Amino acid sequence: MKTGVPIHEYRRLYPLEQVPEKMRAHGLDAVDYSDLYNTESRLFLLDEEAFERTLRYERSVLENGGITVGQIHGPWRYPPKDDTPDERAKWLEAMKKGVRAAAYLGAPYMVVHPLMPYGIGGLEHSEEIFCINAEHFTRLCEYAKDYPVTVCLENMPYPNFPLSTVSQVLAFVKHINKNNFKVCLDTGHANVLGTPPGKAARLLGSYLAALHVHDNKGNSDSHFHIGEGTIDWQDFAAALQEIGFSGVVSAEPNIRGDYTPEQISERQVLLAKNLRKIADNTCD
Ligand SMILES: [Zn+2]
Repeated sequence: MKTGVPIHEYRRLYPLEQVPEKMRAHGLDAVDYSDLYNTESRLFLLDEEAFERTLRYERSVLENGGITVGQIHGPWRYPPKDDTPDERAKWLEAMKKGVRAAAYLGAPYMVVHPLMPYGIGGLEHSEEIFCINAEHFTRLCEYAKDYPVTVCLENMPYPNFPLSTVSQVLAFVKHINKNNFKVCLDTGHANVLGTPPGKAARLLGSYLAALHVHDNKGNSDSHFHIGEGTIDWQDFAAALQEIGFSGVVSAEPNIRGDYTPEQISERQVLLAKNLRKIADNTCD
């Protein structure tokens, strides 16, 4: 198993050209390409040719330095604006662009969130929300068939949204029934909704393709570092081994914006060590 972190955690300290060396010195070997979730970012504003050229260049810098792009984070906006057919069509195009981006970057997985036509609620509209998402992801996976990219739907932390828990997401992915549609397990989101991540991994089995690893105390989606919340990491690591997970143990904790570069670097080193313990199933 490889270990990885969102690329922006290193790019905020170092130019891209220095990122691979710094990451490898910390013991990491993959990135989650996290600069694409904002569709108003520098990258999304480029025309397709410049978009492809830029991403292929960044991939070559990373790969030549021994770092692979394990996954990308697809487009996301908060609050969601998925309540009209026009907005949903626009969002489908954004996600298609994400698929192409993943292909240019050599990333086998694009992690996405479900559409939320009623925001983070909508339990009373479960069937409609299910249908809207079914149409969206069926079309997206049809499109992605021409690319070496699997779309991974992430479990969410919202108790009143009907496509949130690990079992709801798994049932949905099974219903869509496409080879290029799997699950990204977000350990913190699962913990907020009362599912221990080890149990979630065992439930997902071969449907588990990507990870967002972070901790919390079970009462809010705090994106804490590993070991700072209530998650049983020993059990989670054992579960990954049991199900034969062979992907990237990819982290998604917040490293505070007000830290000094030295403090950020210390956090990065500690995070990389903890990810390696999970990958090697040696958590204490
Ligand atoms: Zn996540």
